[in-house]
Parts: sequence; structure tokens; C-alpha cells
Amino acid sequence: SSEMEAAISATPSDSPTIFDKIINKEIPSNVVYEDDKVLAFRDIAPQAPVHIVLIPKVKDGLTGLSKAEERHCEILGYLLYTAKIVAKQEGLEDGFRIVINDGPNGCQSVYHLHIHILGGRQMNWPPG
Ligand code: ADP
Repeated sequence: SSEMEAAISATPSDSPTIFDKIINKEIPSNVVYEDDKVLAFRDIAPQAPVHIVLIPKVKDGLTGLSKAEERHCEILGYLLYTAKIVAKQEGLEDGFRIVINDGPNGCQSVYHLHIHILGGRQMNWPPG
């Protein structure tokens, strides 16, 4: 898929990403949840009826989960808690899938830590 090609060719770096522009409202996005610490918006290439991207507003070196340090524990926990809030808000009471892609093998294409929230259909296992 084109997402996969983008992910494989993406260079892991700590440079600003498109998500900074979304946070700063320099480019439009469909925001479903926002507070002082996190932002959740609809994925532009949805892989399920509900597909939301949830990100920390301050990257603080968290290009991906593999770069997590102990100082990030609070925001990492908060992101998971917020994922549950968003899933509930989206009416995903029959269940949902949380995904964090990391690095080239994980098919990560945007180097700003993010959680995918997917739902609204039966998910498959194992994922591709
Ligand atoms: P992948 O592209 O393989 O899914 P990631 O885990 O890095 O890799 O996910 C980045 C996600 O961000 C993708 O699902 C992509 O569709 C989404 N995305 C990229 N740009 C935008 C945008 N401008 N608005 C909303 N979603 C976006």
C-alpha cells in the first residue's frame, strides 16, 4: 500500500512533522478531542469506520515509543487514558483496537508519537 511505502521510506528524525502543523492549526484537521496535553483527530486515510490519531501536543523527543524515557511515563499513561475517553465518545462500546507503529518495521511514517484508535468493524488478528 502507499502508506506502507511511505512508512518504509520515512527517515526517523526529531524534526517537526505534519502533526505540529495540525497542533498549531496551520493545516486543517477533524479534531474529535482536545485538551491542554493531547489532541485527537480523524485519520486522513481511515483503515476502519472509526480511525483516530491521538498525539501529545508537546513532542519532547518522543518521535516514537522506542525513544521513551522515564520522564515520558506521565504523558504515555495519559495518552492511553485519553484513548479510552475518545473510544467511548465515538461509541465504540463493542470494542476497538489501539496501535502504535514504531520505526520502519512497524510501518511508522510520522515521527511524532501517536496512537491509532480503530473501531466500528471486526478487527483481524494477527495484524498485517
Ligand atoms: P502509517 O502511515 O503507516 O499508518 P504512522 O503510524 O506513522 O504510519 O501513522 C501516521 C498516520 O497519520 C497515518 O495513518 C496517516 O494516514 C495519518 N496522517 C498523515 N497526515 C495526516 C493529516 N494531515 N491528517 C490526518 N491524518 C494524517
